[in-house]
Amino acid sequence: MNTNVGPSAIEQHSANALNILRKQDLPPDPANYHVFFEYASGTSPAMNRILDIYLSNKRHLDTATVQSLFETYVAPKFKDANATATDELDQIVSRTMSVIQETESNAKELAGGAAGVAQALGKTGTGNLEISAVIEKLGTLARNAVARAQAAEGELKSTKAETQLIKERFEAANKAALTDGLTEIPNRKNFDQTLRRLAAEAMETGASLSMAMVDIDHFKKFNDTYGHPLGDNVIKLVAHQLSDGSRPEDFVARYGGEEFSLLMANVSGADATDLVDRIRQSIAKKVLKKRDTGEEIGSITVSCGVTTYSFGETLESFVERADASLYRAKQSGRNRVVFGEVVVAQ
Ligand code: GH3
Ligand code: MG
Ligand code: MG
Repeated sequence: MNTNVGPSAIEQHSANALNILRKQDLPPDPANYHVFFEYASGTSPAMNRILDIYLSNKRHLDTATVQSLFETYVAPKFKDANATATDELDQIVSRTMSVIQETESNAKELAGGAAGVAQALGKTGTGNLEISAVIEKLGTLARNAVARAQAAEGELKSTKAETQLIKERFEAANKAALTDGLTEIPNRKNFDQTLRRLAAEAMETGASLSMAMVDIDHFKKFNDTYGHPLGDNVIKLVAHQLSDGSRPEDFVARYGGEEFSLLMANVSGADATDLVDRIRQSIAKKVLKKRDTGEEIGSITVSCGVTTYSFGETLESFVERADASLYRAKQSGRNRVVFGEVVVAQ
């Protein structure tokens, strides 16, 4: 008879997770379920602090928000296992190599011993032909074993080199997938991932997070007048100015065509606005020259929208507010920075 009364802790967490999903009107798909199972079991205190903010705001949680929590807090637990797969292979190769090296040294010892015995038998003249033949055979076998161990060791060494190469290629491909080809700064995908991480960190620590959207003014006209290749160089120039003008810990990305974004952790809205305005001025001051002829072609300006993250809001709404501020900067005359306040519903 089953004497188990009451649900186990796992069943309880599972029931709690499903209960929250039902209340939030979220489908119990694997990502949603995992997030609330973790929440119910309390194994990710950082994620729980964030979810507590969301839930106490009585805000309806959407799938995108829960998905981003899944990617930040739950998925890495699985990803870590993948990341170490090549390391594990490396370890297996190393362990096998040391076993082979030991076999090789044992075989060498045996070969040496057999040769010694053969020599001793020869010297003492007690030459029993049968014993000598056996010992000589033993010596040959041991020498063959040494040769085989050496060949296996060589093969393993090249396997190790191949594993290293695969690892390097994998890391390079990962880096390329997150870098913009023209400017060599982080791309949009990288921005999306970094935004998720920094927003979660801001909610964990309570420190502010500011964002700027930067768009080159009248860039269509610039391309039409001077051509696309020169336009490309201007995009690179703006990327460098943004990287050089921001703090080393800030994150600068090419958001799209001629639009860039900056993420500034631990920076208030006012300080972020000042920082971005300094960069805006330095871009406007730059006199552009054609590289081949040195001919001066005036300058370009940028418009910027800055805003600060309001804990618990969706990342879409954070980005939209920065975009709306950029739009206001364009509407009010361009070559300026506009700060977008969070509008608190009454
Ligand atoms: P606004 O001041 O309103 O921003 O005017 P704009 O002309 O800059 O308008 P918009 O931002 O819509 O134009 C973007 C232009 O940027 C259109 C496109 O030709 C150009 N562009 C986008 N990506 C690239 C690129 O990689 N290289 C070059 N040379 N031009 C690009
Ligand atoms: Mg533009
Ligand atoms: Mg644009």
